[in-house]
Amino acid sequence: MFSALPDLPEDAILRLMALYRDDPRPAKLDLGVGVYRDADGRTPVMGAIKAAEQRLCDTQDTKSYVGLLGAPDFAAAITSLVLGDDMAARTACAATPGGTGALHLAAELVAMAAPGAAVWLPDPTWPNHAGILAHCGRSVRHYRHAAPDGRFDAKGMAEDLRAAAPGDVVLLHGCCHNPTGIDPDADEWAALAAGLAERGLLPLVDLAYLGFGAGLAADAAPLRVLAAHCPEMLIAVSCSKTFGVYRDRVGALLAVAPQPATRERTAAALAHLNRLNFSFPPDHGARAVTLVLEDDGLRVQWHDELEAMRRRIAGLRAALAAGLRQAAQTDQFDGIAAQRGMFSRLGLKPEHIRELRDRHAVYLVGDGRINIAGLTDDVIPTLCRQVADVLH
Ligand code: PMP
Repeated sequence: MFSALPDLPEDAILRLMALYRDDPRPAKLDLGVGVYRDADGRTPVMGAIKAAEQRLCDTQDTKSYVGLLGAPDFAAAITSLVLGDDMAARTACAATPGGTGALHLAAELVAMAAPGAAVWLPDPTWPNHAGILAHCGRSVRHYRHAAPDGRFDAKGMAEDLRAAAPGDVVLLHGCCHNPTGIDPDADEWAALAAGLAERGLLPLVDLAYLGFGAGLAADAAPLRVLAAHCPEMLIAVSCSKTFGVYRDRVGALLAVAPQPATRERTAAALAHLNRLNFSFPPDHGARAVTLVLEDDGLRVQWHDELEAMRRRIAGLRAALAAGLRQAAQTDQFDGIAAQRGMFSRLGLKPEHIRELRDRHAVYLVGDGRINIAGLTDDVIPTLCRQVADVLH
């Protein structure tokens, strides 16, 4: 039976990681994989999470099952973090294995409630979006996201969504768009929310980088604007980056319903789907996150750590944009400073990307996406010279 399995496309980022690992050159640079790195190139466990895990280890007296939607206090803490304190009555929440699990659950919920609805994805977007949705049998369409000038393409998006039917789902990146780093500004979010509500389109927000853009409150603000306009919305929350708990698989799907009765129906559907997929969602990391969010001291510590990561990335962005401007004598990279989160695209051609790898041992994804957090102040001048070198 197994020999009949099809050849499957290799994941581009995982392939790049393997090439990097096998590269013997000492001065190699990995700007591919999407994890936060500190100035020493490490992806450390956050101090607040370590303290919470210690506390958990000391006090937890059972590993018995919790519930199909995860622990209720995790749901309350995540709902409050993302939507504020007054949305709980309208919001059903299911804990999931990471943000990927939340997206998968969202796709299945849409399949159950609205099998004919198309899901509209930004172009470009995180490649796994189309993969998960197609795997769940959803019909996928695309809308323009980034304009040629490197800004959010509000006009292009509105034009493309004219072809959407009421009840279709529109996937949005809550902040720190992956791979472009280009987000709508506050006015554009307000217009977008009003437009979706008017057209009867349902927002599905992928929130994987909360706190990495303009700060926790500013990054959550668009979610609240959307919830104020749209009677229904889905939010796929990933705790992987925001709490640095990548491998523990912590995430949640929030489903905002028009009224409490619909919320109950939605919660029952989410519990049913979790049951069919894996029964009980992972609890350990979710519990550590809950402890951090509920304890004043740990929450302050976590917030300080998150802010330090955000500021480090913003500093690297400014240095990279200035360095590229000087080395390559062009303003084509200026947008990098204003873009947000871990990723930007350098806008390089495939041959430039290959040359960077072959001649300089610099690894970036085939679409030119770089992980800004993979940089350090020390490597930026060299990288800028190398980019200028392949461009000329
Ligand atoms: N959405 C986006 C845009 C992402 O970049 C990622 C992680 N790379 C995820 C969702 C999923 O994150 P995870 O499943 O690791 O929580």
